[in-house]
Amino acid sequence: MIYLDHAATTACAEEVIEAMLPFFRENLANASSIDHVLGSRAREAVEKARESVAELVGAQPEDVVFTSGSTEANNLVLSTALPVTTTPVEHPSILDTVKARGRDVDVRLELSSEGLVHSEALIQSMRQRRCLVSVIATNNETGVEQDLDMLSSVTNEAGSLLHVDATQAVGTRSIDMRRREIAACSISAHKIYGPKGIGSLVVSNAMRRELHPIIYGGGHARGLRSGTLNVPGIVGFGVAARLASKHRADRRKQLDKLQRHFMVAINAATNDRVTRTINGAPTSPHILSIRLAGTNARALIRQVRDEVAFSLGSACATNKAEPSHVLTALGLDKPAIAETIRCSFSHEQSIQEVEKAATIIAAAAKALSAYSASA
Ligand code: PMP
Repeated sequence: MIYLDHAATTACAEEVIEAMLPFFRENLANASSIDHVLGSRAREAVEKARESVAELVGAQPEDVVFTSGSTEANNLVLSTALPVTTTPVEHPSILDTVKARGRDVDVRLELSSEGLVHSEALIQSMRQRRCLVSVIATNNETGVEQDLDMLSSVTNEAGSLLHVDATQAVGTRSIDMRRREIAACSISAHKIYGPKGIGSLVVSNAMRRELHPIIYGGGHARGLRSGTLNVPGIVGFGVAARLASKHRADRRKQLDKLQRHFMVAINAATNDRVTRTINGAPTSPHILSIRLAGTNARALIRQVRDEVAFSLGSACATNKAEPSHVLTALGLDKPAIAETIRCSFSHEQSIQEVEKAATIIAAAAKALSAYSASA
């Protein structure tokens, strides 16, 4: 099986598993039980991980609020009473939360046809009011990378606060909260070779003052997020963050190579029937959104399900009947969306592996279109 669904989730790195194991066994203590030595050790491990997570996004360790992942981090940042300005291509954990909170002050930022935020639209949306601007740094369906320098300068100029959903970004691009004056950032361990069910909302002091807990209890994270800390998860997250910081540039280079080879191979095998969904905007090399003209994407996924794993727009979209809200917002019509797939790569893969996957997908696409042409 060739796995091309790394934007949905990644396998834990060996170093991550090794580091976590003792915290399921002999180092079992609660990180709040610092009266005994085991508790103190658990706390130390958490604090070490906190430093690595902070470093990954250019923040201070005390800014890191551990959550169950980016869904919770996005929900938490939207606990603010500030008006929210966001885009139609956000993850459902932003869009559905905004909807559920029922605010009428939210604005849907206008985007270019490639999904980039227009600076003018952003300026207009903040007219005479202080907002929380929430933008996905690297889109999980298209891989489009927003211009964070523009977003932060325009947002800060207006006296507003910028939150970036960096879930898909931190593995492949530099997110420096301090340098770019980003007020909050959502990240998730399982997208960067760490465990599932752990992530963080990293918050500056200015942002923290605007937030309200969504989970109450023992007053952990200075009251912002109660609940016993997931020590093994946090330890694994810390190692994954450290590896991501250290190897980001090399990983990006390898991913770029893989994506290019995949595109050449799939086009060679389909007589150039494959086109990129996004042209002309920067995209992350780990996410490739492509259209296979004449092939139904759902049928294609089913056809190769035992050999290659990839997805429609996103893992969340796979079980939905409606077309992707992201691709719809970019102006793609239903027939185009029905032919669009997302392949997402890992730096651990080889060129041969992704070329083989391209050949398998191409052969299945050919078979399916021949069938539908004759049907
Ligand atoms: N935001 C983005 C951009 C994502 O890709 C995802 C995961 N698909 C999430 C948020 C939610 O992350 P988690 O799985 O950690 O809840």
